Amino acid sequence: MRRTIPYIKESLKTYYPENEISGFIRIIIEHISHKPYPQAYIDHLIFSCETNVQIESIIERLKQYEPIQYIVGETEFFGLPFSVNSDTLIPRPETEELVELIINENNKSGLKILDIGTGSGAIAIALAKHLNRADVFAWDFSQGALDMAKHNAERNNVQVEFNKVDVLDDYPKDIKYDIIVSNPPYVLESEKNVMEQNVLAYEPHSALFVPDADALLFYNRIADIALDALRPGGKLYFEINQVKGDETMEALRKKGFKEVVLFKDLSKNDRMVRGVLF
Ligand code: GLN
Repeated sequence: MRRTIPYIKESLKTYYPENEISGFIRIIIEHISHKPYPQAYIDHLIFSCETNVQIESIIERLKQYEPIQYIVGETEFFGLPFSVNSDTLIPRPETEELVELIINENNKSGLKILDIGTGSGAIAIALAKHLNRADVFAWDFSQGALDMAKHNAERNNVQVEFNKVDVLDDYPKDIKYDIIVSNPPYVLESEKNVMEQNVLAYEPHSALFVPDADALLFYNRIADIALDALRPGGKLYFEINQVKGDETMEALRKKGFKEVVLFKDLSKNDRMVRGVLF
């Protein structure tokens, strides 16, 4: 009988570095057996024929550089399980840092929070889970993303009010928020040529790209919405393109935001901006 794990390693070795293959193997095993195994056992696991067929199809998809998170249909964000498909970006570790920043700076209960461009619902759901009695709202223009985000809210047992809104168009004006947060599209079209194939060929371009000539398109629009929709003392949080830190801060100051601060991510890149409206 064939030992499966050495076979996976052999099949993928010309496609991915060894450490990435080890990561895939851990995810594949957990996906198939619904439990983690100690590393020492993994190499010796023997699976049924049926499971080996399933693994063969996963290997074929990995060879096409499809992200493992889409293949198994889920990922983890801020310690919580999230379903994902090609309608939603795969939540990134940098965005976990944004959530952590918001939690650290807003240790109050009953806050009203809006996540604009929620995608899989990652930010909204993690905040709903961790902030005491927060009232969380989330918008996205994509129905596919909203369906996934609603499913994820149920999966994580939190209440989030989702709304189909294209921020470049009109938006609901009935509620005032304490916090508005967004991780909008910010990758420049000109950065496409340095992006990994697994991102470029599989993740939704509408969630990633902005024209170079209008790089802050979503930041300006969302800041304008925040001017109107934040309560006095309310805060606006953005994840940003690392090359746009100064420009984003400048744009927020010009619009009247105070205490505008730039934060770096763990890789020491400019990654988050926060402003307060008094
Ligand atoms: N951080 C993502 C990436 O580099 C982009 C996220 C976004 O555009 N908001 O692929």
